[in-house]
Amino acid sequence: MLFSEAAEYFAKIEAEASRLAMSAIVAELLGKCNQEEAKPLIYIIEGNIAPAYEGLDVGIGEKLAIRAISQVSGRVDAQVAADYKRSGDLGSTAEFFLSKRQQTSLSSSPNELLRVYATFLKISRMSGSGSQDSKISLLSELLNGATPLEAKYLVRFCLGKLRLGVGDPSIIDALSMTKHGDKKDKLILERAFNLCSDLGTVAEHYIAGKDLSHFSTQPFKPIRPALAERLPDAAQIVEKLGGKCAVEAKYDGLRMQIHLEGGKVEIYSRKLEKMTHMFPEITEAAAALKAKSAIFEGEALAYNVKEKKYYSFQETIQRKRKYGIEKMSADFPLRLFVFDIMFLDGKDLTLLPYSSRRKTLEKMTVNNPVLLPSVQIITDSPNKLEEFFQQSIAAGLEGIIAKDLTQPYVAGARKFAWIKLKKSYGAMADTIDAVIIGYYLGKGARQEFEFGGLLTAVLNDETNELESIAKIGSGFSEDEMRTFESMLDKIKMKKKPKGVVSKLTPDFWVKPKYVITVAADEITLSPMHTCGLVGETGYALRFPRMMSLRDDKGPNEATTTKEIISLFEIQRKRSA
Ligand code: ATP
Repeated sequence: MLFSEAAEYFAKIEAEASRLAMSAIVAELLGKCNQEEAKPLIYIIEGNIAPAYEGLDVGIGEKLAIRAISQVSGRVDAQVAADYKRSGDLGSTAEFFLSKRQQTSLSSSPNELLRVYATFLKISRMSGSGSQDSKISLLSELLNGATPLEAKYLVRFCLGKLRLGVGDPSIIDALSMTKHGDKKDKLILERAFNLCSDLGTVAEHYIAGKDLSHFSTQPFKPIRPALAERLPDAAQIVEKLGGKCAVEAKYDGLRMQIHLEGGKVEIYSRKLEKMTHMFPEITEAAAALKAKSAIFEGEALAYNVKEKKYYSFQETIQRKRKYGIEKMSADFPLRLFVFDIMFLDGKDLTLLPYSSRRKTLEKMTVNNPVLLPSVQIITDSPNKLEEFFQQSIAAGLEGIIAKDLTQPYVAGARKFAWIKLKKSYGAMADTIDAVIIGYYLGKGARQEFEFGGLLTAVLNDETNELESIAKIGSGFSEDEMRTFESMLDKIKMKKKPKGVVSKLTPDFWVKPKYVITVAADEITLSPMHTCGLVGETGYALRFPRMMSLRDDKGPNEATTTKEIISLFEIQRKRSA
Protein backbone atom coordinates (compact mmCIF):
# COMPACT_ATOMS: atom_id res chain seq x y z
CA MET A 1 0.00 0.00 0.00
CA LEU A 2 1.17 3.51 -0.77
CA PHE A 3 1.33 5.99 2.08
CA SER A 4 -0.51 8.48 -0.17
CA GLU A 5 -3.50 6.10 -0.19
CA ALA A 6 -3.46 5.88 3.62
CA ALA A 7 -3.22 9.69 3.75
CA GLU A 8 -6.49 9.99 1.84
CA TYR A 9 -8.15 7.84 4.46
CA PHE A 10 -6.58 9.93 7.23
CA ALA A 11 -8.20 13.02 5.71
CA LYS A 12 -11.59 11.25 5.71
CA ILE A 13 -11.14 10.17 9.33
CA GLU A 14 -10.22 13.67 10.37
CA ALA A 15 -13.32 15.12 8.74
CA GLU A 16 -15.58 12.63 10.49
CA ALA A 17 -17.17 13.31 13.86
CA SER A 18 -19.05 10.07 14.44
CA ARG A 19 -17.07 7.34 16.18
CA LEU A 20 -18.82 4.55 14.35
CA ALA A 21 -18.21 6.16 10.96
CA MET A 22 -14.53 6.63 11.88
CA SER A 23 -14.25 2.93 12.70
CA ALA A 24 -15.85 2.06 9.37
CA ILE A 25 -13.25 4.17 7.52
CA VAL A 26 -10.39 2.57 9.49
CA ALA A 27 -11.88 -0.87 8.71
CA GLU A 28 -11.93 -0.05 4.99
CA LEU A 29 -8.31 1.10 5.18
CA LEU A 30 -7.24 -2.03 7.08
CA GLY A 31 -9.05 -4.10 4.46
CA LYS A 32 -6.71 -2.67 1.81
CA CYS A 33 -3.46 -3.54 3.54
CA ASN A 34 -1.61 -6.85 3.57
CA GLN A 35 -0.71 -8.83 6.71
CA GLU A 36 2.67 -7.21 7.06
CA GLU A 37 1.25 -3.69 6.82
CA ALA A 38 -1.41 -4.01 9.52
CA LYS A 39 0.90 -3.61 12.51
CA PRO A 40 2.77 -0.45 11.36
CA LEU A 41 -0.48 1.02 10.08
CA ILE A 42 -2.09 0.66 13.51
CA TYR A 43 0.88 2.33 15.21
CA ILE A 44 0.72 5.18 12.70
CA ILE A 45 -3.03 5.67 13.22
CA GLU A 46 -2.35 5.78 16.97
CA GLY A 47 0.23 8.49 16.19
CA ASN A 48 3.19 6.45 17.43
CA ILE A 49 6.12 4.61 15.96
CA ALA A 50 5.74 1.70 18.41
CA PRO A 51 3.33 0.74 21.21
CA ALA A 52 2.92 3.77 23.48
CA TYR A 53 4.66 2.02 26.41
CA GLU A 54 7.94 1.99 24.45
CA GLY A 55 7.93 5.80 24.65
CA LEU A 56 9.69 6.02 21.27
CA ASP A 57 9.59 9.34 19.34
CA VAL A 58 10.51 9.76 15.70
CA GLY A 59 12.90 12.39 17.02
CA ILE A 60 12.38 15.13 14.46
CA GLY A 61 11.75 18.57 15.86
CA GLU A 62 10.12 21.52 14.10
CA LYS A 63 13.45 23.01 13.00
CA LEU A 64 14.52 19.87 11.17
CA ALA A 65 11.09 19.46 9.59
CA ILE A 66 11.16 23.10 8.37
CA ARG A 67 14.58 22.47 6.82
CA ALA A 68 13.32 19.35 5.02
CA ILE A 69 10.19 21.15 3.75
CA SER A 70 12.22 24.07 2.43
CA GLN A 71 14.75 21.77 0.73
CA VAL A 72 12.05 19.83 -1.07
CA SER A 73 9.92 22.82 -2.06
CA GLY A 74 12.85 25.01 -3.11
CA ARG A 75 12.08 27.72 -0.52
CA VAL A 76 14.17 29.21 2.24
CA ASP A 77 13.60 28.23 5.87
CA ALA A 78 12.26 31.70 6.75
CA GLN A 79 9.43 31.39 4.19
CA VAL A 80 8.38 28.04 5.57
CA ALA A 81 8.65 29.28 9.15
CA ALA A 82 6.52 32.36 8.30
CA ASP A 83 3.77 30.23 6.80
CA TYR A 84 3.90 27.94 9.83
CA LYS A 85 3.43 30.93 12.09
CA ARG A 86 0.31 31.78 10.10
CA SER A 87 -1.15 28.25 9.86
CA GLY A 88 -0.13 26.95 13.29
CA ASP A 89 0.29 23.50 11.71
CA LEU A 90 3.51 22.51 10.02
CA GLY A 91 1.68 19.69 8.24
CA SER A 92 -0.63 22.16 6.46
CA THR A 93 2.39 24.33 5.65
CA ALA A 94 4.13 21.31 4.06
CA GLU A 95 0.96 20.55 2.06
CA PHE A 96 0.79 24.16 0.86
CA PHE A 97 4.44 24.38 -0.30
CA LEU A 98 4.41 20.96 -1.93
CA SER A 99 1.28 21.89 -3.88
CA LYS A 100 3.14 24.95 -5.23
CA ARG A 101 6.12 22.89 -6.29
CA GLN A 102 6.78 23.10 -10.06
CA GLN A 103 7.55 19.43 -10.58
CA THR A 104 8.44 16.41 -8.50
CA SER A 105 12.05 15.36 -8.43
CA LEU A 106 12.89 12.92 -11.21
CA SER A 107 14.60 10.55 -8.82
CA SER A 108 11.61 10.25 -6.50
CA SER A 109 9.25 7.30 -6.45
CA PRO A 110 5.97 7.03 -4.52
CA ASN A 111 6.36 6.04 -0.87
CA GLU A 112 5.29 2.57 0.17
CA LEU A 113 3.73 2.52 3.66
CA LEU A 114 6.32 -0.03 4.86
CA ARG A 115 9.16 2.14 3.56
CA VAL A 116 7.77 5.18 5.38
CA TYR A 117 7.52 3.21 8.59
CA ALA A 118 11.03 1.73 8.23
CA THR A 119 12.45 5.20 7.55
CA PHE A 120 10.81 6.71 10.62
CA LEU A 121 12.01 3.79 12.72
CA LYS A 122 15.55 4.34 11.39
CA ILE A 123 15.34 8.06 12.20
CA SER A 124 14.09 7.30 15.71
CA ARG A 125 17.22 5.23 16.38
CA MET A 126 19.64 7.93 15.22
CA SER A 127 21.39 9.99 17.81
CA GLY A 128 24.50 12.09 18.18
CA SER A 129 25.74 15.30 16.64
CA GLY A 130 26.04 14.09 13.06
CA SER A 131 22.55 12.63 13.01
CA GLN A 132 20.65 15.85 12.27
CA ASP A 133 21.72 16.06 8.62
CA SER A 134 20.90 12.39 8.08
CA LYS A 135 17.46 12.88 9.63
CA ILE A 136 16.75 15.88 7.36
CA SER A 137 17.86 14.00 4.29
CA LEU A 138 15.75 10.92 5.11
CA LEU A 139 12.65 13.07 5.70
CA SER A 140 13.38 15.06 2.52
CA GLU A 141 13.52 11.82 0.54
CA LEU A 142 10.08 10.88 1.82
CA LEU A 143 8.67 14.34 1.12
CA ASN A 144 10.17 14.23 -2.37
CA GLY A 145 8.04 11.28 -3.31
CA ALA A 146 4.95 12.56 -1.51
CA THR A 147 1.70 14.10 -2.73
CA PRO A 148 0.86 17.38 -0.92
CA LEU A 149 -1.78 15.65 1.23
CA GLU A 150 0.65 12.86 2.07
CA ALA A 151 3.29 15.45 3.05
CA LYS A 152 0.82 16.97 5.50
CA TYR A 153 0.44 13.68 7.38
CA LEU A 154 4.13 12.71 7.11
CA VAL A 155 5.12 15.97 8.77
CA ARG A 156 2.44 15.81 11.44
CA PHE A 157 3.36 12.22 12.22
CA CYS A 158 7.08 12.80 12.58
CA LEU A 159 6.39 15.72 14.93
CA GLY A 160 4.14 13.48 17.04
CA LYS A 161 1.09 15.56 16.07
CA LEU A 162 -0.94 13.27 13.82
CA ARG A 163 -3.93 13.28 16.18
CA LEU A 164 -6.54 11.69 13.93
CA GLY A 165 -8.88 11.48 16.89
CA VAL A 166 -9.36 7.71 16.61
CA GLY A 167 -9.07 6.12 20.05
CA ASP A 168 -8.05 2.52 20.72
CA PRO A 169 -11.70 1.41 21.24
CA SER A 170 -12.55 2.66 17.72
CA ILE A 171 -9.58 0.80 16.25
CA ILE A 172 -10.73 -2.37 18.04
CA ASP A 173 -14.21 -1.95 16.52
CA ALA A 174 -12.60 -1.38 13.12
CA LEU A 175 -10.58 -4.59 13.38
CA SER A 176 -13.71 -6.59 14.13
CA MET A 177 -15.48 -4.88 11.20
CA THR A 178 -12.79 -6.08 8.78
CA LYS A 179 -13.96 -9.67 9.41
CA HIS A 180 -17.61 -9.40 10.34
CA GLY A 181 -18.80 -5.95 9.28
CA ASP A 182 -19.78 -5.38 12.94
CA LYS A 183 -18.36 -5.43 16.49
CA LYS A 184 -18.72 -9.20 16.96
CA ASP A 185 -15.07 -9.80 17.98
CA LYS A 186 -14.82 -6.67 20.12
CA LEU A 187 -14.57 -8.50 23.47
CA ILE A 188 -11.97 -10.97 22.32
CA LEU A 189 -9.87 -8.18 20.76
CA GLU A 190 -10.27 -6.03 23.87
CA ARG A 191 -9.06 -8.86 26.10
CA ALA A 192 -5.95 -9.42 23.99
CA PHE A 193 -5.23 -5.67 23.98
CA ASN A 194 -5.70 -5.43 27.75
CA LEU A 195 -3.17 -8.21 28.22
CA CYS A 196 -0.40 -6.68 26.09
CA SER A 197 -1.23 -2.95 25.55
CA ASP A 198 0.00 -3.36 21.98
CA LEU A 199 -2.77 -2.96 19.43
CA GLY A 200 -0.33 -3.38 16.53
CA THR A 201 0.57 -6.90 17.67
CA VAL A 202 -3.10 -7.74 18.32
CA ALA A 203 -3.98 -6.57 14.78
CA GLU A 204 -1.15 -8.59 13.29
CA HIS A 205 -2.37 -11.80 15.01
CA TYR A 206 -6.01 -11.10 14.22
CA ILE A 207 -5.51 -10.33 10.54
CA ALA A 208 -3.30 -13.42 10.21
CA GLY A 209 -6.30 -15.43 11.49
CA LYS A 210 -4.73 -16.55 14.81
CA ASP A 211 -7.04 -17.52 17.67
CA LEU A 212 -7.00 -14.62 20.12
CA SER A 213 -8.93 -16.49 22.81
CA HIS A 214 -5.59 -18.10 23.78
CA PHE A 215 -3.73 -14.81 23.84
CA SER A 216 -1.64 -14.59 27.00
CA THR A 217 0.52 -12.15 28.92
CA GLN A 218 4.23 -11.81 28.19
CA PRO A 219 7.06 -10.23 30.14
CA PHE A 220 7.83 -6.68 28.94
CA LYS A 221 4.41 -6.18 27.42
CA PRO A 222 2.62 -4.27 30.21
CA ILE A 223 -0.86 -5.37 31.19
CA ARG A 224 -3.54 -2.68 31.31
CA PRO A 225 -4.27 -2.32 35.02
CA ALA A 226 -7.32 -3.74 36.80
CA LEU A 227 -9.39 -0.95 38.41
CA ALA A 228 -11.76 -0.79 41.34
CA GLU A 229 -15.50 0.00 41.42
CA ARG A 230 -17.13 1.88 44.30
CA LEU A 231 -20.07 1.11 46.61
CA PRO A 232 -21.49 3.24 49.44
CA ASP A 233 -20.76 0.98 52.45
CA ALA A 234 -19.40 -2.24 53.94
CA ALA A 235 -22.73 -4.11 53.87
CA GLN A 236 -23.25 -3.51 50.18
CA ILE A 237 -19.67 -4.51 49.42
CA VAL A 238 -19.97 -7.85 51.24
CA GLU A 239 -23.33 -8.50 49.57
CA LYS A 240 -21.97 -7.71 46.09
CA LEU A 241 -18.94 -9.98 46.60
CA GLY A 242 -21.22 -12.84 47.63
CA GLY A 243 -19.97 -13.25 51.21
CA LYS A 244 -16.39 -14.18 51.93
CA CYS A 245 -13.96 -11.69 50.40
CA ALA A 246 -10.45 -10.34 50.82
CA VAL A 247 -10.19 -6.85 52.31
CA GLU A 248 -6.89 -5.05 51.82
CA ALA A 249 -5.33 -1.81 52.91
CA LYS A 250 -5.55 0.79 50.12
CA TYR A 251 -2.07 2.28 50.09
CA ASP A 252 -1.68 5.82 48.85
CA GLY A 253 1.54 5.11 47.04
CA LEU A 254 2.71 4.72 43.48
CA ARG A 255 1.31 1.81 41.49
CA MET A 256 3.99 -0.28 39.80
CA GLN A 257 3.84 -3.23 37.45
CA ILE A 258 7.07 -5.19 37.59
CA HIS A 259 8.22 -7.42 34.73
CA LEU A 260 11.08 -9.83 35.12
CA GLU A 261 12.74 -12.34 32.82
CA GLY A 262 16.26 -13.70 32.56
CA GLY A 263 17.62 -11.22 35.11
CA LYS A 264 16.18 -8.23 33.25
CA VAL A 265 13.63 -6.06 35.10
CA GLU A 266 11.30 -3.32 33.86
CA ILE A 267 8.93 -1.25 35.99
CA TYR A 268 5.85 0.29 34.37
CA SER A 269 3.74 3.09 35.79
CA ARG A 270 -0.05 3.17 36.03
CA LYS A 271 -0.16 4.75 32.56
CA LEU A 272 2.28 2.06 31.42
CA GLU A 273 5.36 4.17 30.98
CA LYS A 274 8.74 2.66 31.80
CA MET A 275 10.13 4.07 35.03
CA THR A 276 12.68 1.38 35.89
CA HIS A 277 15.64 3.76 36.28
CA MET A 278 13.83 5.75 38.96
CA PHE A 279 13.53 2.87 41.42
CA PRO A 280 16.86 1.04 41.83
CA GLU A 281 15.92 -0.66 45.12
CA ILE A 282 12.74 -2.21 43.67
CA THR A 283 14.62 -3.26 40.52
CA GLU A 284 17.30 -4.99 42.62
CA ALA A 285 14.75 -6.74 44.82
CA ALA A 286 12.87 -8.03 41.78
CA ALA A 287 16.06 -9.21 40.06
CA ALA A 288 17.02 -11.14 43.22
CA LEU A 289 13.78 -13.17 43.24
CA LYS A 290 14.13 -16.88 42.56
CA ALA A 291 11.57 -16.67 39.73
CA LYS A 292 12.84 -17.08 36.15
CA SER A 293 10.11 -14.81 34.89
CA ALA A 294 7.27 -12.91 36.55
CA ILE A 295 4.77 -10.07 36.24
CA PHE A 296 3.40 -8.66 39.46
CA GLU A 297 1.87 -5.49 40.74
CA GLY A 298 2.00 -3.41 43.88
CA GLU A 299 1.92 -0.02 45.48
CA ALA A 300 5.27 1.55 46.44
CA LEU A 301 5.71 3.70 49.51
CA ALA A 302 8.81 5.32 50.93
CA TYR A 303 9.78 3.99 54.34
CA ASN A 304 11.42 6.18 56.94
CA VAL A 305 13.76 3.72 58.63
CA LYS A 306 14.41 5.98 61.65
CA GLU A 307 10.79 6.81 62.39
CA LYS A 308 9.42 3.45 61.16
CA LYS A 309 6.81 5.26 59.12
CA TYR A 310 5.57 5.16 55.50
CA TYR A 311 5.14 8.22 53.30
CA SER A 312 2.30 8.77 50.83
CA PHE A 313 2.82 9.11 47.10
CA GLN A 314 2.79 12.92 47.23
CA GLU A 315 5.33 13.01 50.06
CA THR A 316 7.46 10.42 48.28
CA ILE A 317 7.52 12.46 45.06
CA GLN A 318 8.35 15.68 46.92
CA ARG A 319 11.18 13.97 48.75
CA LYS A 320 12.50 12.46 45.53
CA ARG A 321 12.68 15.95 43.97
CA LYS A 322 14.47 17.28 47.02
CA TYR A 323 16.86 14.41 47.66
CA GLY A 324 17.58 12.98 44.21
CA ILE A 325 17.14 9.30 43.46
CA GLU A 326 20.25 7.92 45.17
CA LYS A 327 20.04 9.77 48.47
CA MET A 328 16.33 9.09 48.57
CA SER A 329 16.95 5.33 48.14
CA ALA A 330 19.42 5.36 51.02
CA ASP A 331 17.44 7.41 53.57
CA PHE A 332 13.87 6.59 52.58
CA PRO A 333 14.01 3.23 50.80
CA LEU A 334 10.93 2.13 48.94
CA ARG A 335 8.86 -0.85 49.94
CA LEU A 336 6.48 -2.44 47.46
CA PHE A 337 3.20 -3.76 48.84
CA VAL A 338 2.54 -6.47 46.26
CA PHE A 339 -1.18 -6.99 45.65
CA ASP A 340 -1.38 -9.19 42.56
CA ILE A 341 0.61 -11.53 40.38
CA MET A 342 -0.25 -12.18 36.74
CA PHE A 343 2.60 -14.35 35.39
CA LEU A 344 5.16 -16.68 36.90
CA ASP A 345 7.85 -18.89 35.38
CA GLY A 346 6.42 -18.90 31.89
CA LYS A 347 2.78 -19.32 33.00
CA ASP A 348 -0.05 -16.83 32.56
CA LEU A 349 -1.95 -16.61 35.88
CA THR A 350 -4.57 -14.02 34.85
CA LEU A 351 -7.36 -16.57 34.51
CA LEU A 352 -6.81 -18.14 37.94
CA PRO A 353 -9.05 -17.04 40.83
CA TYR A 354 -7.63 -14.32 43.08
CA SER A 355 -7.35 -16.70 46.06
CA SER A 356 -4.89 -18.86 44.16
CA ARG A 357 -2.92 -15.89 42.72
CA ARG A 358 -2.62 -14.56 46.27
CA LYS A 359 -1.11 -17.87 47.50
CA THR A 360 1.50 -17.68 44.72
CA LEU A 361 2.23 -14.06 45.60
CA GLU A 362 2.71 -14.87 49.30
CA LYS A 363 5.08 -17.71 48.43
CA MET A 364 7.10 -15.51 46.10
CA THR A 365 7.52 -12.71 48.65
CA VAL A 366 8.15 -14.81 51.76
CA ASN A 367 10.77 -13.15 54.01
CA ASN A 368 11.49 -10.51 51.37
CA PRO A 369 12.44 -7.23 53.08
CA VAL A 370 11.43 -5.02 50.13
CA LEU A 371 8.57 -6.85 48.41
CA LEU A 372 5.83 -7.34 51.00
CA PRO A 373 2.38 -8.82 50.45
CA SER A 374 -0.37 -6.22 50.93
CA VAL A 375 -1.99 -6.41 54.38
CA GLN A 376 -5.19 -8.41 54.08
CA ILE A 377 -8.02 -9.98 56.03
CA ILE A 378 -10.56 -12.50 54.76
CA THR A 379 -14.08 -11.96 56.04
CA ASP A 380 -17.76 -12.21 55.24
CA SER A 381 -18.76 -9.80 57.98
CA PRO A 382 -19.69 -6.18 57.13
CA ASN A 383 -18.74 -5.23 60.71
CA LYS A 384 -15.24 -6.67 60.34
CA LEU A 385 -14.88 -4.92 57.00
CA GLU A 386 -16.00 -1.61 58.55
CA GLU A 387 -13.60 -2.11 61.47
CA PHE A 388 -10.70 -2.80 59.10
CA PHE A 389 -11.69 0.30 57.12
CA GLN A 390 -11.71 2.51 60.24
CA GLN A 391 -8.36 1.11 61.40
CA SER A 392 -6.87 1.81 57.96
CA ILE A 393 -8.10 5.42 57.99
CA ALA A 394 -6.77 5.86 61.54
CA ALA A 395 -3.40 4.56 60.35
CA GLY A 396 -3.34 7.34 57.73
CA LEU A 397 -4.28 5.16 54.74
CA GLU A 398 -6.80 6.11 52.03
CA GLY A 399 -9.26 3.35 52.76
CA ILE A 400 -9.64 -0.27 51.73
CA ILE A 401 -10.04 -2.37 48.61
CA ALA A 402 -12.27 -5.42 48.89
CA LYS A 403 -11.60 -8.20 46.39
CA ASP A 404 -13.60 -11.07 44.99
CA LEU A 405 -11.64 -14.23 45.80
CA THR A 406 -13.06 -16.09 42.81
CA GLN A 407 -12.32 -13.56 40.07
CA PRO A 408 -9.56 -13.63 37.44
CA TYR A 409 -7.29 -10.59 36.99
CA VAL A 410 -9.64 -8.24 35.13
CA ALA A 411 -7.13 -6.32 32.99
CA GLY A 412 -7.98 -2.82 31.79
CA ALA A 413 -11.43 -2.61 33.32
CA ARG A 414 -13.22 -1.13 36.30
CA LYS A 415 -15.26 -4.09 37.48
CA PHE A 416 -16.67 -5.37 40.76
CA ALA A 417 -13.77 -7.84 41.16
CA TRP A 418 -12.27 -4.98 43.21
CA ILE A 419 -14.39 -2.53 45.21
CA LYS A 420 -12.87 0.46 46.95
CA LEU A 421 -14.12 2.33 49.98
CA LYS A 422 -12.33 5.58 50.65
CA LYS A 423 -12.64 8.23 53.30
CA SER A 424 -15.23 10.78 52.18
CA TYR A 425 -14.66 14.26 50.83
CA GLY A 426 -17.76 16.30 51.67
CA ALA A 427 -20.74 14.33 50.44
CA MET A 428 -18.55 12.71 47.81
CA ALA A 429 -17.29 9.17 48.22
CA ASP A 430 -14.06 9.95 46.42
CA THR A 431 -11.94 12.65 44.80
CA ILE A 432 -11.96 12.75 41.02
CA ASP A 433 -9.11 12.92 38.53
CA ALA A 434 -9.98 15.52 35.89
CA VAL A 435 -8.20 16.58 32.70
CA ILE A 436 -7.25 20.24 32.24
CA ILE A 437 -8.80 21.43 28.96
CA GLY A 438 -8.37 25.20 29.34
CA TYR A 439 -7.51 28.04 31.65
CA TYR A 440 -8.66 31.50 32.60
CA LEU A 441 -6.69 34.68 33.09
CA GLY A 442 -6.47 36.21 36.52
CA LYS A 443 -8.65 39.01 37.71
CA GLY A 444 -7.87 41.46 40.50
CA ALA A 445 -5.26 40.23 42.93
CA ARG A 446 -4.32 37.30 40.71
CA GLN A 447 -3.60 39.38 37.62
CA GLU A 448 0.09 39.38 38.36
CA PHE A 449 0.25 35.66 37.56
CA GLU A 450 -1.95 35.82 34.47
CA PHE A 451 -3.66 32.73 35.82
CA GLY A 452 -7.21 32.67 37.05
CA GLY A 453 -8.27 29.04 37.17
CA LEU A 454 -8.80 25.86 35.20
CA LEU A 455 -11.51 24.36 33.07
CA THR A 456 -11.52 20.61 33.60
CA ALA A 457 -13.22 17.59 32.08
CA VAL A 458 -13.76 13.89 32.61
CA LEU A 459 -13.56 11.12 30.01
CA ASN A 460 -16.60 9.63 28.35
CA ASP A 461 -15.03 6.29 27.48
CA GLU A 462 -17.88 5.35 25.17
CA THR A 463 -17.51 8.33 22.86
CA ASN A 464 -13.84 8.92 23.72
CA GLU A 465 -14.73 12.59 24.34
CA LEU A 466 -13.75 14.86 27.21
CA GLU A 467 -16.84 16.38 28.84
CA SER A 468 -16.48 19.49 31.00
CA ILE A 469 -17.28 19.10 34.70
CA ALA A 470 -15.77 21.96 36.70
CA LYS A 471 -14.26 25.39 36.53
CA ILE A 472 -11.72 25.44 39.34
CA GLY A 473 -10.60 28.71 40.87
CA SER A 474 -9.28 27.60 44.24
CA GLY A 475 -6.85 25.25 45.88
CA PHE A 476 -3.78 26.75 44.22
CA SER A 477 -0.80 28.18 46.06
CA GLU A 478 1.01 31.12 44.43
CA ASP A 479 3.78 28.74 43.41
CA GLU A 480 1.30 26.39 41.78
CA MET A 481 -0.27 29.28 39.89
CA ARG A 482 3.10 30.22 38.44
CA THR A 483 3.85 26.61 37.56
CA PHE A 484 0.46 26.15 35.89
CA GLU A 485 0.80 29.38 33.97
CA SER A 486 4.09 28.34 32.39
CA MET A 487 3.12 24.67 31.99
CA LEU A 488 -0.16 25.47 30.25
CA ASP A 489 1.26 28.31 28.16
CA LYS A 490 3.38 25.67 26.36
CA ILE A 491 0.34 23.64 25.32
CA LYS A 492 -2.09 26.46 24.43
CA MET A 493 -4.29 25.78 21.42
CA LYS A 494 -5.96 28.24 19.09
CA LYS A 495 -9.19 26.28 18.86
CA LYS A 496 -11.14 23.92 21.07
CA PRO A 497 -9.24 20.61 20.83
CA LYS A 498 -10.93 17.82 18.88
CA GLY A 499 -12.85 15.52 21.19
CA VAL A 500 -13.55 18.19 23.83
CA VAL A 501 -17.22 18.93 24.55
CA SER A 502 -17.85 22.12 26.50
CA LYS A 503 -20.45 24.88 26.68
CA LEU A 504 -17.96 27.13 28.46
CA THR A 505 -15.12 28.79 26.57
CA PRO A 506 -12.00 29.45 28.66
CA ASP A 507 -9.57 32.29 27.88
CA PHE A 508 -7.24 29.63 26.46
CA TRP A 509 -7.82 26.06 25.36
CA VAL A 510 -4.97 23.65 26.03
CA LYS A 511 -3.98 20.28 24.63
CA PRO A 512 -5.53 17.70 26.99
CA LYS A 513 -2.44 16.39 28.76
CA TYR A 514 -2.44 17.07 32.49
CA VAL A 515 -4.65 15.40 35.08
CA ILE A 516 -5.36 16.87 38.51
CA THR A 517 -7.04 15.40 41.56
CA VAL A 518 -10.06 17.47 42.53
CA ALA A 519 -12.08 17.41 45.75
CA ALA A 520 -15.54 18.97 45.92
CA ASP A 521 -18.46 19.27 48.31
CA GLU A 522 -20.81 17.34 46.08
CA ILE A 523 -21.83 16.42 42.57
CA THR A 524 -24.74 18.53 41.32
CA LEU A 525 -26.81 18.80 38.16
CA SER A 526 -26.05 21.90 36.13
CA PRO A 527 -26.86 23.44 32.73
CA MET A 528 -23.26 24.74 32.49
CA HIS A 529 -21.40 21.48 32.03
CA THR A 530 -21.51 18.66 29.48
CA CYS A 531 -20.56 15.66 31.65
CA GLY A 532 -23.24 12.98 31.20
CA LEU A 533 -25.49 15.48 29.44
CA VAL A 534 -29.19 14.60 29.34
CA GLY A 535 -31.11 17.30 27.48
CA GLU A 536 -29.61 20.54 28.74
CA THR A 537 -28.41 19.21 32.09
CA GLY A 538 -25.04 17.71 32.91
CA TYR A 539 -23.12 16.79 36.07
CA ALA A 540 -20.93 19.38 37.78
CA LEU A 541 -18.86 19.72 40.94
CA ARG A 542 -19.94 22.06 43.73
CA PHE A 543 -17.09 24.04 45.32
CA PRO A 544 -14.34 22.17 43.46
CA ARG A 545 -10.76 22.62 44.65
CA MET A 546 -7.52 21.30 43.31
CA MET A 547 -5.71 18.81 45.54
CA SER A 548 -2.67 17.91 43.42
CA LEU A 549 -1.32 17.25 39.96
CA ARG A 550 -1.57 13.53 39.11
CA ASP A 551 1.64 12.78 37.27
CA ASP A 552 0.89 9.09 37.05
CA LYS A 553 -2.29 9.55 35.01
CA GLY A 554 -2.87 10.86 31.48
CA PRO A 555 -6.23 11.84 29.91
CA ASN A 556 -6.98 8.18 29.15
CA GLU A 557 -6.75 7.33 32.85
CA ALA A 558 -8.94 10.22 34.05
CA THR A 559 -12.19 9.65 35.96
CA THR A 560 -14.91 8.62 33.50
CA THR A 561 -18.41 9.98 33.03
CA LYS A 562 -19.71 6.56 34.13
CA GLU A 563 -17.82 6.91 37.40
CA ILE A 564 -19.28 10.38 37.98
CA ILE A 565 -22.76 8.97 37.50
CA SER A 566 -22.00 6.13 39.93
CA LEU A 567 -20.54 8.61 42.48
CA PHE A 568 -23.71 10.69 42.13
CA GLU A 569 -25.78 7.58 42.88
CA ILE A 570 -23.67 6.77 45.95
CA GLN A 571 -24.09 10.36 47.16
CA ARG A 572 -27.86 10.13 46.66
CA LYS A 573 -28.09 6.84 48.57
CA ARG A 574 -25.95 8.17 51.41
CA SER A 575 -28.09 11.28 51.84
CA ALA A 576 -31.39 9.38 51.58
P1 ATP B 1 -7.39 6.35 43.24
O1 ATP B 1 -7.41 7.69 42.62
O2 ATP B 1 -8.44 6.10 44.22
O3 ATP B 1 -6.04 5.88 43.66
P2 ATP B 1 -7.24 5.08 40.80
O4 ATP B 1 -8.06 5.77 39.78
O5 ATP B 1 -5.76 5.29 40.76
O6 ATP B 1 -7.83 5.41 42.18
P3 ATP B 1 -8.72 2.79 41.30
O7 ATP B 1 -9.10 1.70 40.43
O8 ATP B 1 -9.80 3.71 41.58
O9 ATP B 1 -7.48 3.54 40.68
O10 ATP B 1 -8.18 2.23 42.68
C1 ATP B 1 -7.23 1.28 42.64
C2 ATP B 1 -5.89 1.89 42.98
O11 ATP B 1 -5.59 1.74 44.36
C3 ATP B 1 -4.86 1.13 42.26
O12 ATP B 1 -4.59 1.83 41.06
C4 ATP B 1 -3.67 1.09 43.16
O13 ATP B 1 -2.77 2.09 42.74
C5 ATP B 1 -4.19 1.49 44.50
N1 ATP B 1 -4.05 0.45 45.55
C6 ATP B 1 -3.58 0.67 46.79
N2 ATP B 1 -3.60 -0.44 47.53
C7 ATP B 1 -4.10 -1.42 46.75
C8 ATP B 1 -4.38 -2.81 46.97
N3 ATP B 1 -4.17 -3.41 48.12
N4 ATP B 1 -4.91 -3.49 45.92
C9 ATP B 1 -5.15 -2.91 44.74
N5 ATP B 1 -4.90 -1.60 44.48
C10 ATP B 1 -4.38 -0.86 45.48
